[in-house]
Formats: sequence, C-alpha cells, structure tokens
Amino acid sequence: MFDVIIAGCGPTGAMLAAELRLHGVRVLVLDKETEPKSFVRIVGLHMRSLELMAMRGLLERVVEHGRRRPAAGFFAAINKPAPEGLDSAHAYLLGIPQPVIERLLEEHAVALGAQVRRGRAVAGFAQDDEGVTVELADGEQLRSRYLVGCDGGRSTVRKLLGVGFPGVASRTETLMGEMEVGVPPEEVAATVAGIRETQHRFWLRPFGAGVYSVVVPAAGVSDRAEPPTLEDFKQQLRAVAGTDFGVHSPRWLSRFGDATRLAERYRVGRVLLAGDAAHIHPPIGGQGLNLGVQDAFNLGWKLAAQVRGWAPETLLDTYQAERHPVAEDVLANTRAQMELLSTEPGPRAVRRLLTELMDFNEVNRYLIEKITAIGVRYDFGAGPDLLGRRLPDIDVKPGRLYGLLHHGRGLLLDRTERLTVGGWSDRVDYLGDPGAQLDVPSVLLRPDGHVAWIGDDQQDLDDHLARWFGTPGQPPEQSPQA
Ligand SMILES: Cc1cc2nc3c(=O)[nH]c(=O)nc-3n(C[C@H](O)[C@H](O)[C@H](O)COP(=O)(O)OP(=O)(O)OC[C@H]3O[C@@H](n4cnc5c(N)ncnc54)[C@H](O)[C@@H]3O)c2cc1C
Repeated sequence: MFDVIIAGCGPTGAMLAAELRLHGVRVLVLDKETEPKSFVRIVGLHMRSLELMAMRGLLERVVEHGRRRPAAGFFAAINKPAPEGLDSAHAYLLGIPQPVIERLLEEHAVALGAQVRRGRAVAGFAQDDEGVTVELADGEQLRSRYLVGCDGGRSTVRKLLGVGFPGVASRTETLMGEMEVGVPPEEVAATVAGIRETQHRFWLRPFGAGVYSVVVPAAGVSDRAEPPTLEDFKQQLRAVAGTDFGVHSPRWLSRFGDATRLAERYRVGRVLLAGDAAHIHPPIGGQGLNLGVQDAFNLGWKLAAQVRGWAPETLLDTYQAERHPVAEDVLANTRAQMELLSTEPGPRAVRRLLTELMDFNEVNRYLIEKITAIGVRYDFGAGPDLLGRRLPDIDVKPGRLYGLLHHGRGLLLDRTERLTVGGWSDRVDYLGDPGAQLDVPSVLLRPDGHVAWIGDDQQDLDDHLARWFGTPGQPPEQSPQA
C-alpha cells in the first residue's frame, strides 16, 4: 500500500515525488519505459523554475550542468536584450538538456526516499472511497490512496479518467534531430542566417563533435506514430534552404506538432493530472517542462497535507483553481507566438510592430515575466498586489530567503516580532526580524513560496494559518523559532 502512485517519471512526476517525500509520503513512481529518455531536447529552465530549484537546495547542482544565458530572446524568438528591472535573484535562462534535468530531479526524489520502477506501464485503475487500485500492463495490481497522472501528452490516466482534452489539433509539424553535415561550418552559418530572417522554424546549430541540431518545417501534419527518416529531413532542407547541407549519420530523428489542448479537470476524486498530461502546447518559448514542474510544486504540499490528514477541506481543489488559469495563459501565449512565426504578410507586420514595442522596457519585461512565470499571481481574494504572488529570493538575516524553504514547510516572516505560528509550528516555520528587504509588517509564505497573508494582526494570521494549514496541533511550550 502506497500513499501516492505517480504514473510517469518525466520531470513533472519526479518533481512531484520529491515534494511528497519532503513530507514523508510513501510514494511510488511508475514509468513505462525501461530507460530514461535519451532524447536531447535542449530545455530552457526559466526564472521561476530556477527559483524552485533554489527553494529546494538544487540550484547549484542544476546550474553546474547547464549554460547560463540572458533572460531574453525567447518571446516568439524576437531578438531583444533582457529587460531591466527583473525582480529575481535568478534572472537568467539556464540551457540544459532535458535528459539531464530529468536525471537530476529523479536522483533528488530517490535520495529523499521515493521508489521508482521502470518498465511498468499503468494500464488501468479503479477508485473507491479509500483509495485507488492501479493495474499495470503486465496485470499486477497495486494499491494507493491517490494516483497522479504525470504520463505526458498522450496520458493513459487522463483518457481512462474520461476527462475531456479540448483544444486545437496540430496545424503544423516540425522535424527535429541531430546529425552530421557534409559542408563547412561557415557555409552552414551563412545559409542559415539568411533563411532565418523570414523562416523562424528553421535552424542548424553546431552541437559539438561535428554534430548539428537540425530543425526544419515538415511537409505536412502526420499522426506522429513513426519517426521521420533522414530522407524526410533532406527533402525538407532542400525545400526550405535550397540545399540539404549533405546531412548524414543521424543520432536521432523526431518531430513535434503545435497542438494546443487543456484538460477540463485536473482532479476526479482520488486521481489527479499534472504536466503535459494536463496541457499541451507548441514548444515555442520553452515553457512545457517549466509549467509541469511548477504544477508539481503547487500540488506536492497540498497532496501531502491531504495524505497526512491536516489539509483543510478545500485545499486540494485549490490545485486546479490555481494552475488551470496559469496553463490557459501559457496556451494563449504559445498560440500568439506561433502566429508571430508565420511567414504570411499579416503576422509578419504584427511581428514587426511588436518588435518595435519591445523597445519599451515595460513591454519587454511584461512578456519575459509571463514566459518565465515570475508574473504569476494566484487569486487568494482581495488584498495588496503581493498577495498570491511569489516572494523573490530576498536577503534575510540568516542568508537568503529560499535557503529557509528547503524542507517544504510554510514560513512566517515577522518584522513585528510579536506574532506566533502557535499550534501550526509543526507545519510552519517562524523568522522574526527578517531584515530590511521585507517592506511589509509580516508575511506568511506557503511551502511553494507564494504569499498567503500580509499583516500584523494575530487573529487575522490565525484565520489564514487555518485556511492554508488546517487545524492547529498542540502549541509547543516555548515560542517557535526558525
Ligand atoms: C522540441 C521540443 C522542445 C521543447 N523545449 C522545451 C523547453 O525549452 N522548455 C520547456 O519547459 N519545455 C520544452 N519542451 C516541452 C517539454 O519537453 C515537456 O513539456 C515535458 O517533457 C513535459 O514533462 P512531463 O513530465 O509532464 O511529461 P513527459 O516528459 O512526457 O513524461 C511523461 C512520462 O510518462 C511516461 N509514461 C507515459 N505513459 C505511461 C504509462 N501509461 N504508465 C507509466 N508511465 C507512462 C513516459 O515514459 C514519460 O517518461 C519541449 C518539447 C519539445 C517537443
């Protein structure tokens, strides 16, 4: 008997498993593949995801394996410098291969005590009042209290759950792969630069040891059941660039579409969905993995609270209430970006106008904050603008704020030094006199770093502690300290 079974050990499943383990939840992750993905999609970890890594003490490990780039140039691939005034201590983009970030997250989850079993596909399940019986493809049955489908865009869990996945089917398809080229690098660079002036779904980028990462529009939309062939690449390179660059010796070949779909519900009883299982959209702006990891971060502590028995009745449902609108927004911005990549005269004119508008720092910053998710504000009701937003990684007396969040607990930052977390001290830490960078009297942070309350009144604080952290336990004999 497990507390939570997670279908899928991609980035979303691994992150969720780690978050659950911070709270001692017994978690099993099942993945249908016997080996982790080897597919080298270079993924950009955006600011908010870097902040999450910092909040769990993973940032240095992750940064070691990636390349820091400016937080710029990823909205519709419009080439502008990073905006000024980005309010983050981690204001850069980290380029890192997807298999690497997946491995690091899985290692983190396993180090915290999660079990991962590979070559085990979830094929069915049935839920009742006490839990979920999960059936694997080989007929084995497992039992848990909750099941989370982190099993990607073609999610079996979502389909079995009967949750609708409305949206728009792919209208374009793009070939992507790694291969060697038969012409000198300068010739490749010159031709690519010319084509990219108008065709944005096209590149050949050196990937080390004579290998190039190649992206080119496909001839049409397929069912993507079969990977493309090298001949498909040659044909499309000739059609777009007038030459196939003598490509040969492919390492891997793939294709992706631009379907945009959002699950109607993220939860049905004891079964939940997260990551690509809940939403798919074109990869423009590099947001999918980031969005999935952030879903997991939002869900983890809430599901743990439910399992541990202290969750307020509506807490688990705030997962959908908070994350569904965020995904809706990402779907909308990827759609807009795809339009801006079009080679038609109308969208090209809009692109030109937007390119001019992005010279205004406010516009540039707004778009970058959107893509990097540092602009996300959850609706916690009326209150100051900071309520519902994440608190940046400010300096606090013992160091940096995110260093105090490694254990996934709530945190009260109390400048008044007369408030207490009382009977919630088993779930919420306390820091008095946090330092000058906090410019409000006191702030209650949820385990995901979002501001749940701002004020200076103990009764009001207690009401909000109860709202997010349930019924208090026995207060400790002495005042809680961080
Ligand atoms: C070309 C390209 C470039 C991209 N670039 C970026 C980028 O720069 N930044 C970014 O944020 N995102 C990017 N993405 C998107 C990103 O790859 C996905 O959003 C991300 O992989 C989603 O993670 P996930 O864990 O939700 O799902 P997945 O990564 O799809 O993982 C799902 C896992 O579930 C397993 N599984 C499936 N079915 C079952 C089953 N029945 N039982 C058990 N296990 C199962 C699979 O084996 C897999 O391991 C890109 C995507 C593409 C195609």
